[in-house]
Amino acid sequence: MKNKRTIALAALAAILMVSCSSAESFNLFTLNDDITFGKQMHEEILANPGEYPLLDRTASAENEAVYAYVEDIMYRILDSGKIENRDAFEWKLTIIDDDVLNAFAAPGGYLYFYTGFLKFAESEAELAGVMAHEIAHADRRHSTQKLTKVYGIQVLLSLLVDENSSTMSQILAQMASGGGNLAFTRENEYEADEYAMRYMYSIYGSSDRNYNLLSMQDFFNRMEDELGVDGSGDSLSVFLRTHPYNDDREDAMTALWESFGSPDGERYAENHKAFKELL
Ligand SMILES: [Zn+2]
Repeated sequence: MKNKRTIALAALAAILMVSCSSAESFNLFTLNDDITFGKQMHEEILANPGEYPLLDRTASAENEAVYAYVEDIMYRILDSGKIENRDAFEWKLTIIDDDVLNAFAAPGGYLYFYTGFLKFAESEAELAGVMAHEIAHADRRHSTQKLTKVYGIQVLLSLLVDENSSTMSQILAQMASGGGNLAFTRENEYEADEYAMRYMYSIYGSSDRNYNLLSMQDFFNRMEDELGVDGSGDSLSVFLRTHPYNDDREDAMTALWESFGSPDGERYAENHKAFKELL
């Protein structure tokens, strides 16, 4: 107990220091915590078909083909050689059969895409871009970074008082009930954009897909044009509310793309058009 107390005190001091220096990447949780949290969130989601009506993979050949198409994109990015937790995390795709415009990543590599979101994309490259962005949130462990920020001191204080406290399970329950609506920090969004582009660039020219790295901008711009700047005008546009898009994000993406030598790439719009027939 004494050792644990010392560790907790040191960590508490570290948190207090980083909260002043705004070191975004500070994470109090372990890789195993990410995996455990993700698994528990996934179970909560599976147990709540009212809120999360799943697209059943085995219900029809069409559904199987829907999963195959989206997973093909997911594995291209996962196998880019740039995913730090490629082997450690679960990396599981779940499609939710609902017109809500949303996609989100739970810790540990659990990825959720709504059919409304898949339909809104107009090319395979757009979907690859937002898929890469969500993979980056999971791989960079933004959920537990955020939890560190929000609950870090609470967790440590409870550890000082009682190392078997129920604080962790309470946090988990809160997190699961929030589903995909956990908003990341601005810095996390920039980082997810940046890593998404790095993943896509690393497979560029190495396979039969040279995704246009800026197609993610098309997706966000169209969402803004159709749904309003912050998505407030449309109850279906959850993604835009948790991902406010602005000129700074767009400029940062363009600057990175230029630093790669402005590769053209392709959008593969026809592939996506054929895919949407299945939905
Ligand atoms: Zn994001």
